[in-house]
This record gives sequence, C-alpha cells and structure tokens, in this order.
Amino acid sequence: MTRKILIDMIKLRSAMIEDSSTAVPEAYFYPTLNINGLKTIRELATFRFTCRKCEDAPCISVCPADALEKDENGIVVRYTNLCVSCKSCVTICPFGTMMTDFFKHHRNKDLFYDLKDEKEMEKFIKACPVGTVTLTDEDESPDKNIYCLNEKVLVRDLLYITEKH
Ligand code: SF4
Ligand code: SF4
Repeated sequence: MTRKILIDMIKLRSAMIEDSSTAVPEAYFYPTLNINGLKTIRELATFRFTCRKCEDAPCISVCPADALEKDENGIVVRYTNLCVSCKSCVTICPFGTMMTDFFKHHRNKDLFYDLKDEKEMEKFIKACPVGTVTLTDEDESPDKNIYCLNEKVLVRDLLYITEKH
C-alpha cells in the first residue's frame, strides 16, 4: 500500500499563530499536467476545506485582478496567471481563511517540493514544523477531521458545515 502524506492544517495554523516567523514550506502534487498554474497543497486544501464558501464572497469582489472565481462546486479558484499577490483577498476574508503568507511565491516552482518524488516528499516533511506533516497508512476519516485532497494527500482540518434543510 502506498503511504499518503497527512498535512495537519490545524497544527500548521497554530504553529504560525504562536510564532509569526514560522516559515511553512510549500508543496504541490499534480497527477497530471495542470491547466491553471501552479497551486500549492495549502492553497488547494484551504479553498476546499477551510473556506466557508460565502454566497456573496468578498474575496472575489475585492480582487483587483479578477483572479478569483467559484468553480461548479462553489469552491474558490485562483487564476495564478492573473493574481498580482496583493493579498486583498487574505485581508478581507472575514473568517481568516487564508494564511498571511499566502500567494507569496506562486510563480517560482523551484521553491516548492514536488510530492510525486519520494525524496522531495521526505525533505518537505523535515522542513515543515514538527508534527504538522506526517506519513500515514490511513484513509479519509471524517470522525478524525481527516479528508482526502487527492490520491497522495490527506488533510486534517475543521470543516465549516451548514445545516441542510
Ligand atoms: S471570503 Fe473567505 S470564507 Fe468567504 S469565500 Fe472568500 S475565502 Fe472563503
Ligand atoms: S492576492 Fe491575488 S487573488 Fe488575492 S485579491 Fe490579490 S490579486 Fe486577487
């Protein structure tokens, strides 16, 4: 069985709040060529799991570059070729969804670890704050707040779930 990488977004956020100088390395994983610029695991996980998917999303309306929109599932997507890294979306989000260092290096692929490569994956784990990124044989487990981002990556985060009527 191939082990998966588990990124604990809850611990990562705490580490960054406790020490604002905490540098979180970035990683990406694409099973196939992507068509929308390089996206980090943290960005994909944040928009998919942490974001509250506001109906009238202020992050989208404040963006001066029209770089954000919702996909067919209501998940916010950033067009990296349009984004100018102004961080207006980070600032205006009423829920602090995005971490303050978001979208900093999005044009420089060399600063990211490619999780398809086992060696890079090990380096990424070592470079992250202790205990925030681990290898696991587990699968998605909502009762433990663990969700599947893709075939290689699990994310632990608290989901915002509205009651369905
Ligand atoms: S404002 Fe924040 S919570 Fe609302 S859609 Fe945008 S990123 Fe998500
Ligand atoms: S950081 Fe990028 S996505 Fe966010 S508001 Fe600025 S241009 Fe738009």
